[in-house]
Amino acid sequence: MKTSAVHAAPVVTVSPKAEKSMARFHPWVFSGAVRRCDRDIPPGDTVLVQAADGRRLAWGAYSPQSQIRVRIWSFDTGAQIDAPFFKRRIDAAAAARRRMPRVSPCTAVRLIHGESDGLPGLIVDRYGDYLVCQFLSAGADRWRDTIVDQLRGLPDIKGIYERSDVQVRDKEGLPQRAGLLWGQDPPGRIDVQLGQVRLWVDVFKGHKTGLYLDQRENQAALAGMAAQADMLNCFCYTGGFGIWAMRAGARRVTQIDASPEMLSLARENAELNGVDAEAMDYIAANVFEQLRAFRDQGRSFDLIVLDPPKFVAAMGQMNRGCRGYKDINLLAMRMLRPGGVLATFSCSGLVSSSLFQKIVADAAVDAGRRARLIQRLHQAADHPVALNFPESDYLKGLICLVE
Ligand code: SAH
Repeated sequence: MKTSAVHAAPVVTVSPKAEKSMARFHPWVFSGAVRRCDRDIPPGDTVLVQAADGRRLAWGAYSPQSQIRVRIWSFDTGAQIDAPFFKRRIDAAAAARRRMPRVSPCTAVRLIHGESDGLPGLIVDRYGDYLVCQFLSAGADRWRDTIVDQLRGLPDIKGIYERSDVQVRDKEGLPQRAGLLWGQDPPGRIDVQLGQVRLWVDVFKGHKTGLYLDQRENQAALAGMAAQADMLNCFCYTGGFGIWAMRAGARRVTQIDASPEMLSLARENAELNGVDAEAMDYIAANVFEQLRAFRDQGRSFDLIVLDPPKFVAAMGQMNRGCRGYKDINLLAMRMLRPGGVLATFSCSGLVSSSLFQKIVADAAVDAGRRARLIQRLHQAADHPVALNFPESDYLKGLICLVE
C-alpha cells in the first residue's frame, strides 16, 4: 500500500469524550483518553490525532511520560507542523501584543503565553532587548531550535536566554535547563520600565523568567488607592506593589518575602525609583508567621497586599491550600484599620474565582469585619485566556474595602 508523507506520521486514536473536548478546541488529550497508538512514539514527535471511526481531528505533540499525552498544535488537519507554522504563530502572537493594553511606556512584555497563543508549553517574555524562554512540554522542547530561529527575527533582539529550569519539566521527562540560546548573554540584571516605575530583572536567578509580569497592571491599579497609606506588601518578591504605592504617595511600605535574595533586589528597586529609604521596611520571613507576630504586637495598616505563590497546584492540595488562603486573609482583615483596603490574590488555577471570593468572605466573617468588593483583578492582558482553554484563567484578585 502506498503511504503519503502525511500518513507517515504516527496516529493516536482517542476516546469519544476526548473527541468532544476537541470539537470545542480544547488543546489537551489526557493519557486516559488515548485508545491506541499505531507505534512507539518518541517524546515531542508530531502525531495525527484521530477519532475511533478514523476521522482526523488535529495535529499535536506526543508526550509519552506526561498525563497530558498530546498537546494540540493545530486543529486544521491539512496543516503542516514545520518552521513556517511556528513563524506564523509567533508573528501572530507578537502582532496581538500591539492591541493588548498595558502601562505605558512598557519594556517588559509576555510575547507568547503557551496554549493561549496556540503554542502549548512555550513561554516567551521580553525584557528590553532580551527574550527569556521556557520550553515546558516535550513538543515545545522538540521544536526549540526552530522556535529560537524565528524569535531571532523579531525586531531589536540582542539575545535569547532559556529558563527551562522548572519542575514541570520533570513531568514531561525533560531535564531542567538554563542558558544562552542565541546572541549576547543578558546582563546580570536588566532595567525595565513599567509605566512610571523601573524595576531590575534578574533573568538568571529570578523566579519564572525574572518577573511576575501577570501583576503589572494590578500594581498600577492598586497604586491609585495608595496615597497616604501605611502599606503591608506580603509576598512582595522584588517589591513591585510597594514601589508603585510609594511612587503614588504612600506614607510607608513594609515589604515581606521569604527570599532574602529577592528582598535585596526589592531594596535596590526602591533606590532605582528614588523612593525614600526611611519609609521602607524589609522583612525576610514566612508571611504566615510574620502576620501572627504583627497581630500579637497589635500592628495595623491601611492597605494590605496578599499575593502568595500557588497554594493549590493539584486537586490533592485543595483543602490545605484553601485553609492557607483563609488563614492569611483572616489575619490581614483583622489588622486593617477601618476603611482600609485589602488586595488579595490567588494564582491557583484550580481555585475558581467564586471559591476564592467565598474564602475571603468567610475570612471577613471570622475576623468580625464588614468588607465590600470594589474591584476584581486578573492577569495582565498579555497573558490572555483562550476561551477554549479555561485552565489559562488562573490569576484572580479582589480589592476589598474593609469597614
Ligand atoms: N507580589 C509579587 C509576586 C509574588 S510571587 C510581585 O508582584 O512581583 C510569590 C512570592 O512569595 C515569592 O517571591 C516567594 O519568594 C514568596 N513566598 C513564598 N512562600 C512564602 C511564605 N510562606 N512567606 C513569605 N514569602 C513567601
